[in-house]
Amino acid sequence: MKLFKAKKGIHIPGKKDATAYIETVKYTSPEFVYIPLSVKGTDFEIYVKPGDYVKLGQKIAERTKEKGLPLIKHASVSGEVVATERQPHSTGMPYMCIKIKNDFKDTPIDAKPLSSLDDRKAILHIIHQAGIVGLGGAGFPTELKYSNVKDIDTVILNGAECEPYITADYRIMLENTAEVIDGLVILMKIVDANKGIIVIKKGKPEVYNALCEEVKKFNNIKVIEVPDEYPAGWEKQVVYRAVKRSYENLPFECGVIVNNVATAYAVSNAVRTGLPLVERVVTVSGEAVVSPKNYRVRIGTPAKELIALSGGVANEFAEVRIVVGGPMMGMAQKNDQFIISETNSAILIFDSIKEYKVPHNQPVGDVLLDVLHLKESDPRVFIRDEQPCVRCGSCVVHCPVGLQPTLLRQASIAKNDILLGKLDVTKCIDCGTCAYVCPSHIYVNEAIKKGKTYYNVKNRNKKK
Ligand code: SF4
Ligand code: SF4
Repeated sequence: MKLFKAKKGIHIPGKKDATAYIETVKYTSPEFVYIPLSVKGTDFEIYVKPGDYVKLGQKIAERTKEKGLPLIKHASVSGEVVATERQPHSTGMPYMCIKIKNDFKDTPIDAKPLSSLDDRKAILHIIHQAGIVGLGGAGFPTELKYSNVKDIDTVILNGAECEPYITADYRIMLENTAEVIDGLVILMKIVDANKGIIVIKKGKPEVYNALCEEVKKFNNIKVIEVPDEYPAGWEKQVVYRAVKRSYENLPFECGVIVNNVATAYAVSNAVRTGLPLVERVVTVSGEAVVSPKNYRVRIGTPAKELIALSGGVANEFAEVRIVVGGPMMGMAQKNDQFIISETNSAILIFDSIKEYKVPHNQPVGDVLLDVLHLKESDPRVFIRDEQPCVRCGSCVVHCPVGLQPTLLRQASIAKNDILLGKLDVTKCIDCGTCAYVCPSHIYVNEAIKKGKTYYNVKNRNKKK
């Protein structure tokens, strides 16, 4: 078996200073929230109808395991249900949503905290009932991650947050240190893990010191720092650096479960208060935003309200580009008309470069090149110009997975699914490193992403 070894990543400018040192602003007053269910909507059973009054945290919809990944949705404000309707979502697909008119009273449900941590099933039940999903971006139900696993000795919290600009996790670790560690302790209890590790990037002394102070209370939890490089937050990389183990598909194969620090905070909140997941922290940043900040916002808040709270777009930017998530792996948006969902860690707004348009919802090899790489020299006049591959090998050297991006790109363009399979296209993590380092400005990862989709569709069809 080929074992994974941590590979040196690339250094990219962090660009985090604009928001890292500003306290998170709580925003609880959107006039309407749109609780996103799914693209189909029919996979959820909806428990409310227009005209119903709902309390903050009330269960309003549920998907059972017969219909997909089991998940419960809650009202993120108190008020009146207005409609069930489709709304633009950051994935680019319109999502079926439950629209609630906020009464600005935040009247909560009668929440009951868990009285003890002795019952593993009771913890899992409350996590499920609270609708907690991975807040690092994956959105996978947390309860499922901890169900039917055995021999887990370590729970790792991923606080590496390696994408530029984003500081949501940084602020949570600083402002809610005790709750994050409490969440880790609860997660360790579920699987009876004897070790807890929090992984952060080097160069964050405030967070490091705060976490170290808090973990002094426990003799089986430690904080480790990983090099400030990209993609330091990639799960395989995090596991390897934390416990020197590797796995093929999922961390539990090597006795480890990984969660994001924000998820741990949500778990602590649910267990200790009985309140479900109704909010998350979102970074609003990027050169074109007047006043970058982090916001703790209710799920389903319209993104444009957060942008307005940040002062909107600075006057000198006639055209802007909006990205949800980080510039390396995020999604370019058509406009600001989308709603905040559980997995949105950031809204970034950048200058738009003329003569070059980001295809809607393309992975952002394109965005990162413009914004981080080339924009630093001359953002306004640069015209993107893809040059022929010079076979420098830079993309191969830097691919953290150890793939051959240049060959994968050729196989993708040729639609050669056999070669794509041989070159392990499905292992590509869409990190964008290959495009970032390419001196010929080639959209390497964009081609690979298309190739991966092509390969998956071909394979699915073959199995039918
Ligand atoms: S996008 Fe895929 S091929 Fe490119 S560097 Fe990342 S993992 Fe490697
Ligand atoms: S980095 Fe760009 S130019 Fe160099 S081998 Fe890869 S695709 Fe070709």
